[in-house]
Amino acid sequence: MSLTLDEIQNFKGKYPKQIWSLFFSEMWERFCFYGMRGMLVFFMISQLNFHEVEANLQYGATQAFVYAFTFIGGLFADKILGFRKSLFWGGLLMIAGSLILAADPHQFFFLGIAFTVVGTGFFKPNISSMVGQLYKPNDARADAGFSLFYAGINLGALLGGYLCIAIGKGELLDHMIPENLRWNVAFGLAAVVMVISLINFIFTQKSLGTIGLQPGHPLAEVKSVPIPKWKEYGVYVLSLVFVPLIMTMVAKTEYTDYFMWAIGPLTLIYLFYEMTKVTPSERKKLWAALVFILFSILFWGIYEQSGGSLSIFAAKNLNNDLLGLDPNGVNNSGGAFFIIFLAPLIGLLWIWLNKRKIEPNTLVKFGLGFIFLGAGYYVLFATRLFANAAGITSLNFFTIALLIITLGELCLSPIGLSIMTKLSTKNLQGMMMGMWFLASAYGQYVAGIIGAGMATAKEGSTNYDALITYTEGYKQLGLYAVIAGVVLILISPYVRKLMQDVK
Ligand code: GLN
Repeated sequence: MSLTLDEIQNFKGKYPKQIWSLFFSEMWERFCFYGMRGMLVFFMISQLNFHEVEANLQYGATQAFVYAFTFIGGLFADKILGFRKSLFWGGLLMIAGSLILAADPHQFFFLGIAFTVVGTGFFKPNISSMVGQLYKPNDARADAGFSLFYAGINLGALLGGYLCIAIGKGELLDHMIPENLRWNVAFGLAAVVMVISLINFIFTQKSLGTIGLQPGHPLAEVKSVPIPKWKEYGVYVLSLVFVPLIMTMVAKTEYTDYFMWAIGPLTLIYLFYEMTKVTPSERKKLWAALVFILFSILFWGIYEQSGGSLSIFAAKNLNNDLLGLDPNGVNNSGGAFFIIFLAPLIGLLWIWLNKRKIEPNTLVKFGLGFIFLGAGYYVLFATRLFANAAGITSLNFFTIALLIITLGELCLSPIGLSIMTKLSTKNLQGMMMGMWFLASAYGQYVAGIIGAGMATAKEGSTNYDALITYTEGYKQLGLYAVIAGVVLILISPYVRKLMQDVK
């Protein structure tokens, strides 16, 4: 007997049981995604002989396209496929992408990446939207659920980010894999875990009742309205047509700029059009969602320095006084490591505060997210106080900054997923989740620009000068983050009005 939506949403305890299954599917998907992402720059430079600048630009382009496609994946889920079919199709495309890379990463590099970009677009937003549907619209336990789900994201990110590149470089399993096949196996591993993700999802479906079966119109719970086959296959064919297009655009990074300039405004125009079709009360909620989305661009723009300027800072200006660990390894995986432990705890803290009626509302949580982010960047600035004359400073202190930044991420990122599901109308759930991730695409884009601005070191400057330049930049970013946090808290009464009954 399939569960009804009511039975699913009226669960007892802290978490709905289905969240664990979605946790695992998302964990393996993130393993595949971050595993591949972690190999890109290194592979391009060492195997495809790309220049460093070129490789970084291409990496940035991939990231921008991946997150931009979440909007398209969300939109098709809402209009035609429903969440489940979208997720499954996305997963299959990701498997195809990883297999292509596993077969011959040198020859088919951009083709494999393009498949993964489109696949992630269909998978990523829609699994998050399904988590939201496990809850009734005003269930106070939703933020905790998303925090737990976020731990799954980061567990996958940590494992994939570490294992794939270690295999590719020959630091792991090198005695079992012939040298000429290391990269094939590393990319192949991403395909294997994605298969696990989908098999897990097949079993999960049994406990999801009607969630995600139909596109998100008000009849979503009615099983008897089948999706017209020609439309369904039309989406599959169209998404395959996107593949060579993306392949060309990722390979020539100047297209990324055009694409980024076009997709944001087009998305907004489309949202405004959709807004004309909803009730005034729903429209207000969509405006509130847009406020969160716009602020998140700034958040990710600052946060995503981790992949850019902070990795250069880690390589040049940090010692290894934290257990002898490699500073770049800490910079790459420290955040995910902290999240795995902290996310469930913070989730429980929200529930605990809610019982005592003192849980901060979403705006205050977002505001806190920015303030932690800012405080973290001030600590990065303060690393200069521990520097020696050669411009080398403490990894321990840097790790404290990472911990504070991670606390900020936990106040904003899982909460953002949760609030998108609460503020979107039923038939725009996927698209709004896609917009939330599209903001991340812009965040990555902005992060690259900020990072490049900081990297303009003067001719003949020393390592110590670089430390001063970077830390000065981090102080500025810290200030912007704190200002954004304060502004958010100040405008919270207005935005709360737009949110109405949503907390
Ligand atoms: N790290 C999170 C994830 O992979 C958040 C990504 C984002 O929104 N930028 O899902």
